[in-house]
Parts: sequence; C-alpha cells; structure tokens
Amino acid sequence: MSEFLPFTRPHIGETAIAAVADVLRSGWITSGPKVLEFERQLSEYFGGRPVRTFNSGTCTMEIALRIAGIGPGDEVITTPISWVATANVILEVGATPVFADIDPVTRNIDLAKVEAAITPRTRAIIPVDLSGLPVDRDRLYAIAARHQLRVVEDAAQALGSQWGGKRIGSFGDFVSFSFQANKNLTTTEGGCLVLNNADEARLAEKYRLQGVTRSGLDGMDVDVLGGKYNMTDVAAVIGLDQLPQLDSITARRHALAQHYFASFGADFEKQTGVQLPQKDFANTNWHMFEIVLPEGVQRSDFMARMKELHAIGCGVHYPPIHLFQMYRQRGFKEGMFPVAESVGRRIVTLPLFPRMSEADVERVVQAVRRSL
Ligand SMILES: *Cc1c(COP(=O)(O)O)cnc(C)c1O
Repeated sequence: MSEFLPFTRPHIGETAIAAVADVLRSGWITSGPKVLEFERQLSEYFGGRPVRTFNSGTCTMEIALRIAGIGPGDEVITTPISWVATANVILEVGATPVFADIDPVTRNIDLAKVEAAITPRTRAIIPVDLSGLPVDRDRLYAIAARHQLRVVEDAAQALGSQWGGKRIGSFGDFVSFSFQANKNLTTTEGGCLVLNNADEARLAEKYRLQGVTRSGLDGMDVDVLGGKYNMTDVAAVIGLDQLPQLDSITARRHALAQHYFASFGADFEKQTGVQLPQKDFANTNWHMFEIVLPEGVQRSDFMARMKELHAIGCGVHYPPIHLFQMYRQRGFKEGMFPVAESVGRRIVTLPLFPRMSEADVERVVQAVRRSL
C-alpha cells in the first residue's frame, strides 16, 4: 500500500529550523525583538493596521471581545459550524452565544439568519471564514452598521484570502488569525489580532500580559485583569520565515484545489450526490478542501475505508457546536439549526497541503470514488 497521506502537514523548512536554533542560542527566548519584528511585518501585510501577536488564535478573539467591552448580559451571534473555540470565547467573557444557521453552499453563517437573530441585547457578530472562504464582507458590515454591532472576524483559516480584491485583515473591525500547526501559516501555536487604533492596541497588550503597564526603568502598574497570552520569539521567527512564503503557499493550494475539481470531473456531484466545495478562485486561500457526503453514506465508515484501504487521512471540520454536551446544557438541541446539523454530520476534509503532489490529489480522488 502507498505511504500514509495525512489531511494536512505543517510546512516547516530548514531556514525556519535554523532561525529557531539562533533564537535558542541568543539568550532571549520569550517575547522580544522577533515578536516586535513579526508584528511590524504583519502590520505592513495588513496595510498598516495595528497588529498584536498572541500564543493562540483563541485568546485573540477573547481579548477582542474584552476590548469591545462585551460581557454578562450581552449576546454575540456566531455560526454553529466552526472550531468550538469560536463559541467558547463568548462564554469565557461571560456573554451569551447565539447561533445562526449556515448557508448550505458556502457552509458559512447565513447573513439573513444573522439579521433575524439580532435582539436589543446583541452586541457583536463573530463570522467564520470556513476553509478560508470569506463571509460576504459587504453584507456583513452593512448589517453591523445598521444595528451598531462590533465584528470580531474569526479569520483563523483565512490568512491570504481576499474580499473585493482586498486582503482579509486589511479592512473591517477586529480581525483574528490563528497560527496553529494546521493553519496556512504556523508558528507551532499562536495568533494575531488586527485592531482599529493605538488605544485598542495598548489595551490588547495589557490583556495579553497580566494588565501590566511599564514606565521608565522601574515603574509598573496594573489597571485591568489580564492573562498570560504572549507569543515567544521562538514562535515569532517561524512566522517571520513563513510570511514571505505566504503568496507561494496560497498559489500552491489554489493549484491543488483546481486539480481536485479537474480530477473529480464535471459530473461527479450528479453521479454520486457528493457536494464539492464552492469553486471560488478569487477570494479563498484554500485552507481546506471539504466535501459533503450524500445522505446514506455513514461518514465513519467512509473515513475508515479511506484510512484502511487507501492509507488516506481525512478530517472533520466541524461537528455542530450547539450539540456538544456543554451547549446542550445551555438549552441548545437537535432541530434548531438543521442546515448545520445536516452538513456537520456529513462533512469530510480531504488532504490538502503545499507539499502534496498532483499525483496525491489523483490518488485521493480515486479513493473517494471507491470509498463511497
Ligand atoms: C484554529 C481555529 C481557531 C483557534 O485557533 P487556535 O490558535 O487553535 O487557538 C478558531 N477558529 C477557527 C475557525 C479555527 O480554525
């Protein structure tokens, strides 16, 4: 049998490994000059907006909510189809998560349903760009403006994606990215938040490190409750190594996604009942290639056949958040978000990462046909 093909694999080159070794030898291994340089380059990438880095893409969103002053009594609208972090951060700040069902084609939050879910308590929306396919930013920000809501874009998967020819992160309200191992750019673990102004950036720095403000050589004060969320220089140099490669990483992902569509062929959906992802080559960074299996094909059986008969690893991104026990205990149940439940039961992530070959894509396509 062929060598095992995982659904993703991090893209770490020898230059990144050498840069990490240099930092480890330098005598300064936690947040320092490399973090500042990474933030400077990220800010440049996002058109000059302020950017701060963190040790995860989860705390970036939590801190954005705190900066916006969102807490107990406030409602925040998000999608049920995301990594559970997206909803957990709402609970973490003491606010109430409200879900709006997804669109079956984009698999992103349905903006008509967002508008219908707005109440006098709604303070913010957290949209998610699943697989890197952006939520319609024109409609999103029109809704936010009409109802005076803050937006925390969960763009964890959307680094390198665009909307209307502009980079995700270069416009809008708060924009959060993750540099976790599976993301298009990784620092092993990490994340960054794009902010609106210097005041928000200062507050982000406080929430990132125990609420501390330093002055002079020996001055220190604490005026808000912060946590421990800073990125290390060890992580930052990996990001510095990857950022210049981001355009070529995205181009390679596009080429592989194009090859998936070509290899499945134009009639594949009609023949099999499988739904391929939206064929978007203008906006998405192709973070993942996700298919939705037809009703009647058990996903666990399909994944087992892919793994055992074809040595191909698939992923599930994601089961619906509202059906997890902790969310059921808060009153959510089956039937509330039928599109999310149906897609969440049947969605499967196929392998897609820059070092895959065209032949790997063809191998996956053949295995999918045989495993249905
Ligand atoms: C990865 C991811 C996160 C969380 O990022 P971490 O860096 O793992 O904390 C949040 N939302 C989505 C959609 C993600 O893919």
